[in-house]
Amino acid sequence: MRLPTRLACLGAFALCGCHSHQPGAARQASGAAVAPILTTSDAVDDQTYARPLEARVTHLTLDLDVDFDTHRIGGTAALDIRHRPGAKVIVLDDNGLEIDGIADQHRKALPFKVGARDPKLGSPLAVALRPDTSRIVITYKSAPDAGALQWLTPQQTAGGKMPFLLSQGEAIENRSWIPTQDSPGIRQSWEATIRVPAGMTAVMSAPRPEQPITEGGEGVFNFRMDHPVASYMIALAVGDIAFRSLGPRTGVWAEPATLPAAAAEFSDTEKMVSAAEKLYGPYRWGRYDVLVLPPSFPFGGMENPNMTFLTPTVIAGDKSLVNVVAHELAHSWSGNLATNATWNDGWLNEGMATYAERRIVEALYGEKQADEQIALGIDTLNDAIAAAPAGSPNATRLHTNPKDKGADDSGEIAYEKGSAFLRTIEAIVGRPAFDGWLKGYFNRHAFQPVTSAMFLADIRQNLVKGDPALENKLMLDRWVYQSGIPTNMARPPADTFADQDKAVRAFATRSAVPGGWGSWTTDERLRFLNRLPRKLPTSALDALQSSFRLNESRNSEVRFAWLDLAVANRYDPVVPSLQQFLTSQGRGKFVEPLFKRLAADAAWGAPIARRTYPLARRRYHPVVTRALDPIFVDNPTPKASKNGSK
Ligand SMILES: [Zn+2]
Repeated sequence: MRLPTRLACLGAFALCGCHSHQPGAARQASGAAVAPILTTSDAVDDQTYARPLEARVTHLTLDLDVDFDTHRIGGTAALDIRHRPGAKVIVLDDNGLEIDGIADQHRKALPFKVGARDPKLGSPLAVALRPDTSRIVITYKSAPDAGALQWLTPQQTAGGKMPFLLSQGEAIENRSWIPTQDSPGIRQSWEATIRVPAGMTAVMSAPRPEQPITEGGEGVFNFRMDHPVASYMIALAVGDIAFRSLGPRTGVWAEPATLPAAAAEFSDTEKMVSAAEKLYGPYRWGRYDVLVLPPSFPFGGMENPNMTFLTPTVIAGDKSLVNVVAHELAHSWSGNLATNATWNDGWLNEGMATYAERRIVEALYGEKQADEQIALGIDTLNDAIAAAPAGSPNATRLHTNPKDKGADDSGEIAYEKGSAFLRTIEAIVGRPAFDGWLKGYFNRHAFQPVTSAMFLADIRQNLVKGDPALENKLMLDRWVYQSGIPTNMARPPADTFADQDKAVRAFATRSAVPGGWGSWTTDERLRFLNRLPRKLPTSALDALQSSFRLNESRNSEVRFAWLDLAVANRYDPVVPSLQQFLTSQGRGKFVEPLFKRLAADAAWGAPIARRTYPLARRRYHPVVTRALDPIFVDNPTPKASKNGSK
C-alpha cells in the first residue's frame, strides 16, 4: 500500500489526557461496543485531521444514492459522536466532498468550515458543537473524481452490459466519499442504505440484514456492521453481480460471465476459513465471501470485512494463486480484528497476514508449497532491502518513521520482514507455544487498535515471561526498530528450489531449456524466471518462448515474470503480449513496475510506454494512475473518458 507522507501533527490534542470518552467496554445506543482511542505518542495518526480525544465518531449511518450518470454518490452521513465536556468542534476528514449542509440531532443547522486542501490528506472539516450535540447529519455528494471510487463503463466489465462501481478505502481514500474521521485508530460501527439503478446489485463489507427491495425504480440495499471497524474497511461495489455458495458460511460474488470460473478457482474457501480458525481462533464476522471484481481492481485483494475484494488476475485455472485469498482471509484477524493504530505500524496488518497466509497454504496444500512461497518471500525481502536508498538507514525497519517513508514504495518490508519475524519467533519458541500465544493475542486485542510497542509488550508478558535467555535469542527490538535482516532469521530448507536453481545454471551457461517445466508448480516457474540473468541473448529468449508459450501464459504471475525479463532484454517479440497485458487489467503490482521499467529505457521502452499508456489508463483505478501519471507528465495523456473506451 502506497502511503502519503507526513504533514499534519496533532500531538497537542492527542496528549490532552482526556479519558472521558474512552470507555473500554462501553456500549452505544446501537448496541455496538465503543473501541478505545490510544493515547501514547506512537499511536498518534499523522494521516488524519481528526482530534479524537476532543471529539470522536462512534457510529456512522449512510443513506446514499449511487448515480452512474454523474459519477457521484450523494445523500446523508449521520455520525454518532462523543466529545469531551467543553469541546467546541469535531474535526472530520474530507477530500473533495460537496457539502450542502450539516445539522444536529434536532435538525438544527451546525456551522462548519472546510480547511485548506492538501493534495494527499484532503481537508479538515471542522463542525461546531453545542454542549448537547450527540449526532451530526451531513448532506453531501462525492466529487466525480473521488480517489476511492472507480466508475467503469460497461465495456470495461467482463459482461459488457452494465456499468460498475468499486471503492477502495485503504489507506486514506474513503474520505473522498464518506465524511468521517478516517483513521485506523478511530473505530466506528456503521450501517448503510444504498440506492442503485434498477437491475443492479450492491454489496458492501458488512452483513445484509434484510433482502433488497425495489422502490421507485431503484434497488435499495441495507447493510449493518455491528463491530467497530476502521473507516478504511468500509467498501462498496455495484454492478451486474451474482452469487454462488461455496459452503455453509462462504460464497463468491462476481459478474455472471466470471462466476463459474471464480467458483471453481475458489472452491477451497470454506476449508481455508476452518484452517485459519485453527490457527487464530474463531472467525468472528459471520459470513466470509469473496467478490471478484472487473480487471481494473488495483490490488491483488482487499480484506474488506465479510467480503474480500479480489482481482480476477488470480484466476489461473488451477488454484495456483489462491494464496491471495488465504492472505485476505487472514486479515479477518490481523488487520480487521487487531488493527494497526497508525500506518507507521502497517507490518502488524501485513506481516502477520503474510505469515498466516502461508500457514493456511501449508494446512491445505502441504509444507512443500508453503516453503516455496516462504522462499520466494525471502527473495522479495532481499530485493526490497537491496533497493533501499543508501541515505535512508531506517528505510527497512518494521516500525516506520514517517520521515523514512517513500524508501520502500512497494511496502514489501511490512509484508516480508514482518512475516519473517513471526516465523523466526515460531522457530525459536516452537509451534505449539507460538500458536497458543497468537490466539491469545487476537483475543486480547479484538476490535482494537494496536501499535508495535503493544505487540512487543504482549509477547514479553505472555510468551517470553521474563526468560532472559529467550529474550536474547528472539532479538525482538532489533527486528522491529532496526534496519535489515537480523542474524536469527528462520529460513526454509536450503534445497527448496534445488531443481530450479540447477536449471537456472544450465540455462545461463548453455541455454538448456528445463525439461521439468511441465511438472513444475507456479512458484517453481517463478523462481526459475526470476533467477535468470537479466541479460540474455535473443536466441535464449526465443527458446523459452517457443518451448513454454510464455507470451500466451494464463497465469498472471508467470506472465509478469516473463514480461519483466523480456523488457529488460528489449525483446521485440514480446511487445504485443506486453501491450495486451497492460491494457487488459489494472493491478498495480504488475502494471506499475512494467511501465516504470519501459519508461526508464528511453530508446526502446519509452516509445512503447507512451503508445500504450493512454489506452491502458482508461482501465486503471485512481490509485494506479496517481502513481503512473507523473512519469508521463511531459507526454500528456487523455483523461479517462466516461464512455469512450474500446
Ligand atoms: Zn494484506
